[in-house]
Amino acid sequence: MSDTIFGKIIRKEIPADIVYEDDLALAFNDINPQAPTHILVIPKQPIPRLSEATSEDHKLMGHLLLTAKRVAEQAGLSNGYRLVINNGEDGGQTVDHLHLHILGGRSLRWPPG
Ligand code: AMP
Repeated sequence: MSDTIFGKIIRKEIPADIVYEDDLALAFNDINPQAPTHILVIPKQPIPRLSEATSEDHKLMGHLLLTAKRVAEQAGLSNGYRLVINNGEDGGQTVDHLHLHILGGRSLRWPPG
């Protein structure tokens, strides 16, 4: 499997503004924020995209969702937030390592572009 910039962040080869870490997941501020709060939650296991997750990953998938909830609370997003997973080309995915975007701190429009 090819490495990505997120793999380098997991291995601490390049810096990131890490806001949460445990054995399975890492969360850090997005380098190009689209909202006042824009945090990425990633698994340490390098799953390229959601469509490549399998039933064997179901506990990890639950962990990522609950980690996003925890990180959003930690960031003080008590007025709400949005979780986004871009999957594949049409989904606008640019980094081939599964990640959840936490967006908050302003009122978000729907639908996204
Ligand atoms: P996506 O378009 O869903 O694949 O999202 C990839 C996200 O990774 C984008 O929002 C980028 O701004 C973000 N990103 C890329 N490189 C870095 C980095 N080195 N540190 C933090 N965020 C990054």
